[in-house]
Parts: sequence; C-alpha cells; structure tokens
Amino acid sequence: MKIVAAVVHEAEGKFALESCDLQGPGAGEVLIKIEACGVCHTDIAARDQDIPIPLPAVLGHEGVGRIEQLGAGVVDFAVGDRVLVSFGSCGKCGSCRDHAPGYCHFGGVFLMNGTRLDGSSPISQNGSPITGHFFAQSSMASHAIASTQNMIKLPESVPAEVAAPLACGVQTGAGTVLLALEAKAGKSIAVLGCGTVGLSAIMAAKIAGCSPIIAVDLMPSRLNLAQELGATHVVQGSVADLGDELLKLGGVDYALDSTGVAAVVESAFTALKSQGSLACVGVAKPGASINLDLNMLMFTGRRVRGVIEGDAVPKTFIPTLLKYYEEGRLPVEKLVTRYAFEQVNDAVNDSLSGKVVKPVLLMR
Ligand SMILES: [Zn+2]
Ligand SMILES: [Zn+2]
Repeated sequence: MKIVAAVVHEAEGKFALESCDLQGPGAGEVLIKIEACGVCHTDIAARDQDIPIPLPAVLGHEGVGRIEQLGAGVVDFAVGDRVLVSFGSCGKCGSCRDHAPGYCHFGGVFLMNGTRLDGSSPISQNGSPITGHFFAQSSMASHAIASTQNMIKLPESVPAEVAAPLACGVQTGAGTVLLALEAKAGKSIAVLGCGTVGLSAIMAAKIAGCSPIIAVDLMPSRLNLAQELGATHVVQGSVADLGDELLKLGGVDYALDSTGVAAVVESAFTALKSQGSLACVGVAKPGASINLDLNMLMFTGRRVRGVIEGDAVPKTFIPTLLKYYEEGRLPVEKLVTRYAFEQVNDAVNDSLSGKVVKPVLLMR
C-alpha cells in the first residue's frame, strides 16, 4: 500500500514527507494506522548519524495507532485495537527470557540497522527498500508495520499525545527510578538533565517518596517545570562546580544522568553517598568515556550502571504508568507540545533548541 512517511535522506538533513510503499504485516506483526508519534532524542541521534543507521530511513519509535491488519500468528490483538508500540526485542534470547527486553541480544538490529531480524524492511521507495523498521516500527508515517512483541492495548480515554511518550522517554525516566534504581522513600536523588527522561524521573521519584529531589539543568524554564513536577531543589548546573553543589546539598543516594555528557556523569559520581547508585541513560557522542576514581568506587560501595528503557518490560510497566497518569501522579501532558505531522521539522528544531520538552506529531 501507499503511505506517507517522514524520510531522512542525509545526515543532519530535514525530514521530508514523501510517498513510500509499505508491505503487509509479517508473522508476529500488525499494520497500524498511526494516530501520533513522539519525537525522541534517539530519532535525532539517528538522523544526525550519531547512531549510524543506513539512510534513507523512516524513524519514529513512540507510535500510537489503530490496528488495521494482523500478520500470521497474532492472537492477542484484533483489528480495531488501539495500541502503543514500545521498543523492539526478539522475545527469545537470554535477556528477553530473563524479562530484560531492553537488553535483547538483537536490540541493535532494530536500533542500529532499523530492520527486522532477518535484515528486511517493510518500507520501500521507488522500488528499493529503505530503512523502515526502526525500533520494530518506524512510526513517523501514516501507517507502520510494527512488531507485537512490546505492544500494549491502549484505553480510548488516554489522549494520543500523552500515550506516545510512555513508549520510550517516560518509560526510560520513570523505569530507571522505580525499577533499575529501586528508589526508596526518604532517599535523596539528583536528576541531571530535565528533558522528557529527566522530568519523568522526577515525577517517579516523587511517586517513590524520595527526598530531597534535586533537578539539574541549564535552562531556568525546565527547572521551573521540574519544581512543578516534584523537585524540591534545583541546581542551574555549570559543569565546573556541579559535584560541589550537590555535595553542599548533602550528596545523593541516587543519581540519574540523562545528558550523556562525561563531565556531568563524573560530577554526579563524586556526589554519591556511600553505597549510592548512578544510572546513565543519556546517549553520548560515539567514543565518549568517563574517568572514575577506582578507590572511591570500591571503598564506598558505589554503583555505576547503564540503563536501557528503564529496565522495563513494557507490557507490564506501561499499564502501571497509565495507572499513575489516571491518578494524576504522572502528569505527562505537562511535558508535551502537539505538532501536526507536516510540522515535523519544527518539532525537531524546537526540541533541539529547548523551546519544547516533548514534541508529539499528530497524524490525523
Ligand atoms: Zn531478545
Ligand atoms: Zn526514545
């Protein structure tokens, strides 16, 4: 079938809305008419080739839509179901069997190659396949072929622009706090970088009962929003004295870095209390590395780890996030700005400039 997709042709180039051809769904896949898709920094990293995905490509990995056709073997979804599509995983490898799909041994195929596991793509243009299964969906399009592996049914009552960010950004921030760090009430946390991931971490830290909750960002507007969402302290962070600023506040039991900036990560490490944990969730420039004092790591029992998609199993964690949203404890709508699909380049530019936190494209 003919679809309209946002195609990236060159590194750091514009998204162009173009006609493409979409195959029918394969085994374990469904055809979805896309209602909305969030714009995540990983999409921008792929466009800019920090993630060297083959171009041309159709990106987008926070898709909301309605199922129009089922592929072979799909039994737990029906035509007409409204769904949210989270990241791709194989469902069979050791990590997937251990309920850690974010660490699927084949996750790199969906992320770095943007194809199905067999290397094929459901999208083609002018008779040639293009990258069209990014995160097992490529949902910056009117329609997508998506894997049902990490797909969840979505209540009709949830606005599309609220649901979309749960697929990646909100899941990453909230999951890192609640699942990976297992944050406890009364413990202190610093959140470095207050984009969608960081602000979701702050909302989750409030749900967990953490105190104090320290938000760090360069932009006053983001720090104001962080306070509205639960931050008890804010630090307008310049890297030079960030560690000292956090230590002045007593140091922290947990730190979450969403910046991917090595100097920020190193500062956060110095501010950890004994047995404190630092989670790194920000995509860094290729080859970036950090320097840590090994004795400081060992003698204080500190932990430093990377976290993908909040350690979450989407089929169980996203319904939990939806429950928090319904209860008013996860006001995702405060992060979101809506854009028509045709405004995709404005959405990306406004995200990069910091004008908006979470752009969500509405396809209809
Ligand atoms: Zn797997
Ligand atoms: Zn993402």
